[in-house]
Amino acid sequence: MAQALAGPEIERLIQLLGRLPGLGPRSARRAVLHLMRKREELLVPLADAMRVAAERIVTCDNCGNLDTQSPCTICRDSRRDPSILVVVESVGDLWALERAGALRANYHVLGATLSPFDGVGPDELSLPKLVERATGGAVKEVILALNATVEGQTTAHYITDLLTEVGVKVTRLAHGVPVGGELDYLDEGTLSAALLSRTTIG
Ligand code: ZN
Repeated sequence: MAQALAGPEIERLIQLLGRLPGLGPRSARRAVLHLMRKREELLVPLADAMRVAAERIVTCDNCGNLDTQSPCTICRDSRRDPSILVVVESVGDLWALERAGALRANYHVLGATLSPFDGVGPDELSLPKLVERATGGAVKEVILALNATVEGQTTAHYITDLLTEVGVKVTRLAHGVPVGGELDYLDEGTLSAALLSRTTIG
């Protein structure tokens, strides 16, 4: 580890920020320096905002999204089409699809994808709740918006089998999602196109 430049409080801040995705130790150091210079305008409000968020973040009981309320903001939004349920692996994927803005639907966050080699089986995924939501009668179509990875596709097959008995239409993202592609890294246009030209699988 590099030699300490500052007191332990600052070093701790650099260390913690350096764990964020996309920030290495160098960027973390630069960010901390910026925060220290902008103490009143940035560091203090950021610290307050983080404390409030840390106290209030909950997992939505309905869909698995992260928010400060459950049901979450998306589940409470009555302007969304209740007949479409978009299944994603993670909250990051949900955010990516919302950013693309192609559909105003409801979501279901699985929390993981099946990966037998890593010991991730069906019990690790939020599947009973998905089946319950798909069974209610309001949902007519379930869109599997899963990564184009082996795990994502294995999970898609598993869910398709699971939902066959429920009698809802099951679709998946169309071309545009490259093999091995992770949704979070795709641009909005590609995501919109993949959603709008989805194909039926069950
Ligand atoms: Zn929700």
